[in-house]
Amino acid sequence: AKELGRKRFVVFDETLAKGMVDVLAMEGELRQALHHDQFQPYFQPICRLCDAKVVGYEALMRWNHPQLGLLKPGDFLKVAEDSGLIEAIDWRMFELSCGLLSRYGAKDAFMTFNVSALHLRHPDFDARLIRMVEAIGLAPSRLIAEVTEGALLDNPEIVRATLERLREVGIGAALDDFGTGYSSLSYLHSLPLRMLKIDKAFVQELDKTGNTNSTTVVAAILALAHALNIQVIAEGIETRAQRDALMAMGCEMGQGYLLGYPEPVDCWLDSRSNTASG
Ligand code: C2E
Ligand code: CA
Ligand code: CA
Ligand code: CA
Repeated sequence: AKELGRKRFVVFDETLAKGMVDVLAMEGELRQALHHDQFQPYFQPICRLCDAKVVGYEALMRWNHPQLGLLKPGDFLKVAEDSGLIEAIDWRMFELSCGLLSRYGAKDAFMTFNVSALHLRHPDFDARLIRMVEAIGLAPSRLIAEVTEGALLDNPEIVRATLERLREVGIGAALDDFGTGYSSLSYLHSLPLRMLKIDKAFVQELDKTGNTNSTTVVAAILALAHALNIQVIAEGIETRAQRDALMAMGCEMGQGYLLGYPEPVDCWLDSRSNTASG
């Protein structure tokens, strides 16, 4: 059944435009999944590069599908966004992630979470987020909203105002996937950004011999960010050579399979209770 199910999703992916029936089926399943609480945040560590200390986590959405197993955003995010269901799914994710951070996160570690463009159009997004963080009792300064350049395109003024109001209460903002979008450099100084994430496309070119372009781009991003007092996280670090190159260029933080995979937080609990009982 699992194999059949997977095939169905593959077919669905390839015929997304004309596969109306499958889109509806998937929407129905997403609604059910919300109802049955099948979405779960995984945490991937964000590390200081000089000593690999975990300084934060990115919360990444996973769907525990009853037949298909663990699904990643690539399998369902587009349908969730197009149908508008992403809003409800994200709110559930924020709530669960904040709870996990406050209960099990390393002391002082921050958590970043992905905010889809839809939320940023809502005038009460920030107020709702602040209420939720207060109810959970989490220090707002430990939270960082990741936004993409795509979200800014629609309505840069509204996004800027929302991020300003979040900053007033201590919630930070990070510009995600930097360098892949429309990369208007004016965003960098006009937005209240605490962090910027260099996209993995640049990072993964760094250890290829003969490729000096990525090195130039990454060095330029670092120089610009630092001049504007914005911290930098390099994404998708998979090799030591990539990490070393980034460190040599003065990049302070990184994320990637070399440093740690996204994990369900309950596996940290298991290892703790194993230690306690053993
Ligand atoms: P993203 O925000 O750019 O997240 C980074 C993606 O890179 C994650 O994929 C992560 O698992 C993956 N990754 C981490 N380290 C490495 C590495 O060393 N190599 C490679 N090749 N990949 C690495 P994931 O978890 O599949 O998420 C995909 C995208 O889905 C995210 O891209 C983000 O745009 C979106 N997303 C994830 N969680 C949420 C969520 O809760 N809400 C919304 N709206 N979007 C989300
Ligand atoms: Ca992200
Ligand atoms: Ca990213
Ligand atoms: Ca992305």
